[in-house]
Amino acid sequence: MEIVAVGGYEEVGRNMTVVKYGNDAIVVDMGIRLDRVLIHEDTDISKLPPEELARRGIIPSVGDDYGEVKAIVLTHAHLDHLGAVPILAEKFPLAPIIGTPYTIELVKQELRGKRRNPLYVLEAGEVLQVAPRLSIEFVRITHSIPDCVVLVVHTPEGSLAYFNDFKLDDTPVIGEKPDYQRISELGKEGLKALIIETTRVANDGRTPSEQVARTLLEDTLLKSSPEHGLIVTTFSSHIARIKSILDIAERLGREPLLLGRSMEKYVSIAERKGIISLPENAHIYGGKDAIKKALKRAARERERYMLIITGHQGEQDALLTRIANKKFEYRIAPGDEVVFSADVIPNPINVAQRYALETKLKMQGARLFKGLHVSGHASREDHYDLLKMLQPEKIIPTHGTLDMLAMYAELAETLGYAINREVFLLRNGQRLEV
Ligand SMILES: [Zn+2]
Repeated sequence: MEIVAVGGYEEVGRNMTVVKYGNDAIVVDMGIRLDRVLIHEDTDISKLPPEELARRGIIPSVGDDYGEVKAIVLTHAHLDHLGAVPILAEKFPLAPIIGTPYTIELVKQELRGKRRNPLYVLEAGEVLQVAPRLSIEFVRITHSIPDCVVLVVHTPEGSLAYFNDFKLDDTPVIGEKPDYQRISELGKEGLKALIIETTRVANDGRTPSEQVARTLLEDTLLKSSPEHGLIVTTFSSHIARIKSILDIAERLGREPLLLGRSMEKYVSIAERKGIISLPENAHIYGGKDAIKKALKRAARERERYMLIITGHQGEQDALLTRIANKKFEYRIAPGDEVVFSADVIPNPINVAQRYALETKLKMQGARLFKGLHVSGHASREDHYDLLKMLQPEKIIPTHGTLDMLAMYAELAETLGYAINREVFLLRNGQRLEV
């Protein structure tokens, strides 16, 4: 088996890995790097050729020596795992794109007219033969988007597991807890290799459950002032979080207005797929005019609504930023409450934009409530537990900068692994034979 580190091995973003067995190969994930998109926000990335996008570090740099690609497998619908599909999938036009129902529905939307590859839905718990000596299996896992899975690649000579992304959440607000039974079976059957994310390995302890974020939100929102405006901002793809916020809106007797293009995309698909059911008085608007109208209505009766909107990172074109910039009839009034159910993604652009946003909101008299959030990624002790369950022969850390990959290697050392004997830190473009 050969593992090709294509993208995500030097950064948080643009995840892509190739797993080769003989001349057959599977491409796993095809992501973009979002902070690089932000730097180039003046250019329309859909108009740039793939080579230029790769040169700018936005998409993975794809080689042409992967053998015969039998499948493109997507583990979940975050953009750093599937955002490059519309640009790169056509390099392998015969390979079906395989994912869980929610993921495939989003791929359909991303590809719209320009679809060439066949799409194939595989559920967690199912196995699919993609070549005579190569099959894939999806195992249920928890993260911060519905329908996320672990990929297991089976060959006659052993298996590889790909945990990117995941957390170990025993009380997720929607969906079920991880399939621990299958995960420990994989360990007993013997894993040749483990590819594993390292995004939050620097954080001590375990990542709290999504249930904790729900309690934090209840604790703050149930005390909110009934006479003022109430705005909550969170990740539009975080459907479990949005469900908690909607449930609280109902208890407060406020009508939820879900606004923003990406909010409409992720939430309507989740509703169509039966992952979430919206209360009858909830409305979703994604189009420019519809948003403008809804905000006009809300401006006249601000105490009646709860706004659930995009913009928690202070992104220039997101709704909360544009409200703070007084682009709508709905203005922040003194005493209005703005709740951030998201942490700042720690890159300098986000930090600066968020700082500017918070300052503007405060100057207009808003009361800010921050940090009502838990991560979707495993922390150090989750990684420890998982590694003990899986006991793989070889480990390839991914989804991080070199210091994050190294920190994972250090953790593995405490369980008896050694760098360059069992743990391999790859750079983008490098290969490893297992
Ligand atoms: Zn993710």
